[in-house]
Amino acid sequence: MNMNLNDFNNLNIPGMEIPKKQKIKKKSEKEAQPAFDLKNIPAPHKIKGELDQYVIGQEQAKKVISVAVYNHYKRVFSQTAKAQTEEKEQMAEEEEVRIEKSNILMIGPTGSGKTYLVKTLARLLDVPLAIADATALTEAGYIGDDIESVVSKLLAAADNDVEKAERGIIFIDEIDKIAKKKNTNTRDVSGESVQQELLKLLEGSQVEVPVGSNQKNALTPMATVNTDNILFICGGAFPDLEDIVRERLTRKASIGFQAELKDQYDQDPNILSHVTNQDLRTFGMIPEFLGRLPVVVTFQKLTREALVDILKKPKNAILKQYKKLLELDEVKLVFEDEALEWIAEEALKRDTGARALRAIMEEFMLDIMYEVPKDPGIGTVVITRNYLEKHGGPRIEMRG
Ligand code: ADP
Repeated sequence: MNMNLNDFNNLNIPGMEIPKKQKIKKKSEKEAQPAFDLKNIPAPHKIKGELDQYVIGQEQAKKVISVAVYNHYKRVFSQTAKAQTEEKEQMAEEEEVRIEKSNILMIGPTGSGKTYLVKTLARLLDVPLAIADATALTEAGYIGDDIESVVSKLLAAADNDVEKAERGIIFIDEIDKIAKKKNTNTRDVSGESVQQELLKLLEGSQVEVPVGSNQKNALTPMATVNTDNILFICGGAFPDLEDIVRERLTRKASIGFQAELKDQYDQDPNILSHVTNQDLRTFGMIPEFLGRLPVVVTFQKLTREALVDILKKPKNAILKQYKKLLELDEVKLVFEDEALEWIAEEALKRDTGARALRAIMEEFMLDIMYEVPKDPGIGTVVITRNYLEKHGGPRIEMRG
């Protein structure tokens, strides 16, 4: 494999076309080489195939999202094409089938890959992406970011190119935190009204946002962004939603079977996949809001095996990155399988999904990265489980 350091975190997609006359680009621009042509969006299985190279597991979620994204961009470009070529009367006639927006709601535990999947998708599609946190959003007039700030962020991500922003993706994280509160004695601005205010954006509206700033004042120029073709993805961990689903499923059964079913559902690690709109309403999401997020996907808690795969399999896997770094010193880095399992087990204990992996790796790799270059005789470093459990050093093999 031919790689240089700059390629490290970049996409290397086979068959990707590189324009002949290329201006010198900044690194961030270079990373944005599109894998797909939006106008000819490839079939869902191809989108999923690309996602598979980065996102481990979450098969159902990747499948559903690939279809949703495919439909979304087909809709976007069929509408633009129509608007450009057909006369108004004709359009009115054909208006009867209007494809609905396929905004997405992602439900799943922390560190299961929700944000990562969205980021990967935006990069593959080469569309601008804005990531916002629902907890920072407040009703107009309150301290905090107003709802439109998410569109400002997207415009900034699109280098202030309105047209580009209008095809972008907005990811709103922690959406479960704006659920209707059951006992409202908190000082918080009510989540329900934030949900209300998001409705307009989600279904498509003209929003006036300041360019190059998120502060509205007399001096900042304003731009109008139409959110009609912006893909909105909302994500959250929805704690306690599992209980709501489980309770509903058990309640449905006739009395005699309830105990038996309860056992079955208590053990189902995938209980969230049975979620319905009604469950989400019980959780505190308002029906109008849910109505504008027609695609609901659930992410599973990552297993030990999945965590091991995340360490080694993705194109830019952490392990591959460390190996590459040491390779530059002509040192071979080897991880024993049991060592990888130990790392995954440690990560499971921290209960933050794959998020913990990098931190755990960094904790012990620091010493390796510090010590190894001291001795040019070192040819191979083997990370063993014993070493990670602090029963001795890594296994070192000398050159020659
Ligand atoms: P969340 O579900 O909380 O949004 P993230 O997507 O932010 O979780 O995951 C944190 C990090 O863990 C990601 O940046 C990525 O490196 C890694 N990760 C999480 N899930 C996966 C996965 N399914 N496949 C590969 N990497 C993952």
